[in-house]
Amino acid sequence: MAQIIDGKAIAADIRREVAADVATLSSAHSVVPGLAVVIVGSRKDSQTYVNMKRKACAEVGIRSVDVDLPEDISELALVAEVHRLNADPAVHGAAFTSPLSGILVQLPLPKHINEEKILSEISIEKDVDGFHPLNIGKLAMKGREPLFVPCTPKGCMELLSRSGVTVKGKRAVVVGRSNIVGLPVSLLLLKADATVSIVHSRTPDPESIVREADIVIAAAGQAMMIKGDWIKPGAAVIDVGTNSVDDPTRKSGYRLVGDVDFAEVSKIAGYLTPVPGGVGPMTVAMLLKNTVDGAKRGIVE
Ligand code: NAP
Repeated sequence: MAQIIDGKAIAADIRREVAADVATLSSAHSVVPGLAVVIVGSRKDSQTYVNMKRKACAEVGIRSVDVDLPEDISELALVAEVHRLNADPAVHGAAFTSPLSGILVQLPLPKHINEEKILSEISIEKDVDGFHPLNIGKLAMKGREPLFVPCTPKGCMELLSRSGVTVKGKRAVVVGRSNIVGLPVSLLLLKADATVSIVHSRTPDPESIVREADIVIAAAGQAMMIKGDWIKPGAAVIDVGTNSVDDPTRKSGYRLVGDVDFAEVSKIAGYLTPVPGGVGPMTVAMLLKNTVDGAKRGIVE
């Protein structure tokens, strides 16, 4: 049976470490990190994510700056708002400096706004989501280090390292090539010296490629697509997929499942993350970590 990687417990450890860092910044440097969480419009799912991120900031002592903008805001006005946040160096309190260390723009944006344009307007020093093309470009280049790495991919790597899974020299297969998960996690694995293959919706016979992997990262958004016989015995399997499927036995009428068939794969793999409780809690924990790391970088000793 696979060792089940407890993402909730690992994320809680990281939050404790971030809270300790925040406390040190405050006592040693009189600095309180700040994160601007920008939401445009009133999509229910986006509001849930934003509330979760704002609450998580408060829990570790990061100052959350709420920027709630109307659905019909023009692209120009949103760019101006991002520029205003880029230029916000510090809010001075009586004893403390609270620099705006990070800016997060919740996605998706309304259709009339060009997402790529907005993400590239965020200062790379405050790009805690790691989606700025310069940060992604540095992630892709040998010998370059991005200022920030996207949170979910960074969370996947952290789950591997904190579970004692070696990446160097291993064969890794990533299922999915999106800008927010598949591509950046592939680049991180490559930077960590794995030999990486990416499987996507146009890949014929994906199972034969996945079967070669010592490490599988599943990020296709396809419920329970990866079966037990796709997995090399002993492999480490990180399931990013979060899919809701009908479940009449639940009060809600649905339940969340991953891209991996948990019942089958847990019998073959060496390590496996559950859904929920695996990668999910790590995303917010890594956002907090990126924010405090940004604040540390801003301190001139
Ligand atoms: P996405 O933008 O829809 O990308 C899905 C990727 O999977 C695409 O590259 C697609 O290939 C590939 N794909 C789709 N069907 C496939 C198949 N049958 N075989 C192989 N590849 C296939 O999704 P995403 O934003 O990356 O998210 C992926 C999953 O992770 C979703 O379930 C999402 O909810 C979840 N997620 C979880 C977290 C978290 O914090 N836990 C965060 C982000 C996302 P093409 O490029 O060819 O279309």
